[in-house]
Amino acid sequence: MAKIIDGKQTAADIRREIAEEVETIKAKAGRAPGLAVILVGDDPASQVYVRNKAKDCEETGIYSVVERLPAETTEEELIALVKKLNGDELIDGIIVQLPLPKHLNSEVIINNIAVDKDVDAFHPYNVGKIMIGDYNMLPCTPAGVMELLSRYGVEVSGKNCVVVGRSNIVGKPQAMLLLHKNGTVTVCHSRTKELAEVTKKADILVVAVGKAKMITGDMIKEGSVVIDVGMNRDADGKLCGDCDFDSCEKKASLITPVPGGVGPMTRVMLLKNTLSAAKRKLNI
Ligand code: NDP
Repeated sequence: MAKIIDGKQTAADIRREIAEEVETIKAKAGRAPGLAVILVGDDPASQVYVRNKAKDCEETGIYSVVERLPAETTEEELIALVKKLNGDELIDGIIVQLPLPKHLNSEVIINNIAVDKDVDAFHPYNVGKIMIGDYNMLPCTPAGVMELLSRYGVEVSGKNCVVVGRSNIVGKPQAMLLLHKNGTVTVCHSRTKELAEVTKKADILVVAVGKAKMITGDMIKEGSVVIDVGMNRDADGKLCGDCDFDSCEKKASLITPVPGGVGPMTRVMLLKNTLSAAKRKLNI
């Protein structure tokens, strides 16, 4: 039976560590790290995410600003706001809540965020830095996965690591981070043939697909570490991951649950990125 990786508890521990560091920064620099969140339109899920981000900031002492813009905001107006925040001395991190309304091109908007304030690490400059292994900013979900592996004492070096999913925000950067830790990395996607044959070789399996319970116990290696990034609803409307927890738990040595695994880590890594951006800017 696998040991459960408690992402909720780990994220709470990290929030406490961040809160302590925020106090130190305030004492040294006379101000807290600052995060600006831009929300365009009234997508209900985005509103919840943005509220949570503001709440997380409040809990850790990070100064936060939420800029709410109407759905009909033009690209020029949004870029003007991003540029204003780029120049705001009290703001260390900027995120634009995605998805944006259809008439706005998220790539164009993200390309306007100052690279040293791009705490989602979606700007092509930061993406490139991750590729060459010389990075300041890391995308929150893969960074959260690496933090879980590290805090649960999982050695990556020399291990067979399989990442299922190759999105720009999860799968690809996840693969690079595991590679930088000297894992032997295989990336799978929708065209991968004999997926189970590949996943069964994984010592560390990270799944980020978005298909409820698609990875079953018979597809994983005995004693493997299973990290489930997926967030889906099952047939009963219950939140579940991409892995079938019950059958995978019987074979894995460590496994993340959904909810309570990677999700809380994604949230807290945004705070960590904001803190790091502030420390770099303030030379602390
Ligand atoms: P995307 O839809 O952008 O990417 C999904 C990936 O899965 C694609 O690379 C796709 O391959 C691959 N895929 C689809 N079907 C299969 C299949 N049958 N076999 C193997 N690979 C397949 O999703 P995201 O990366 O954005 O998100 C993935 C999941 O993680 C979602 O459930 C999302 O909600 C969740 N998520 C959770 C977060 C958290 O904090 N817990 C944060 C971000 C995402 P191809 O490229 O060939 O199309």
